Amino acid sequence: MHEFSMALEVINLARREAEKNMAATVQEITIEVGDLSGVEADAFESALGLLVKDSILCNAILTIVRTAGKGICIACNHEFEMVQRMATCPICHCFPSKISGGEEFRVVSLVVE
Ligand SMILES: [Zn+2]
Repeated sequence: MHEFSMALEVINLARREAEKNMAATVQEITIEVGDLSGVEADAFESALGLLVKDSILCNAILTIVRTAGKGICIACNHEFEMVQRMATCPICHCFPSKISGGEEFRVVSLVVE
């Protein structure tokens, strides 16, 4: 389960941050999960929900922010939303030259106490 190892990684990161700040608990953590990151946001959320119980995040408010996939069309430069990696431009049906959003998987904020 990929999402489980990602959730463990987030918990480890939170613990390291708390240790660095000599904090006993984490109050809040916000994680950004892009639609094209390869991490399924719902599965990640339930994995994290299970794994936080005995961790530094047990009392933390968990917020998962999903970011939409976006690409820039190789032919017409139009930026369009991509629900999956193989999405094509709605105007000219070409593939994007680059992905401009939705690949992120990161902790965007962490509040320790
Ligand atoms: Zn196009």
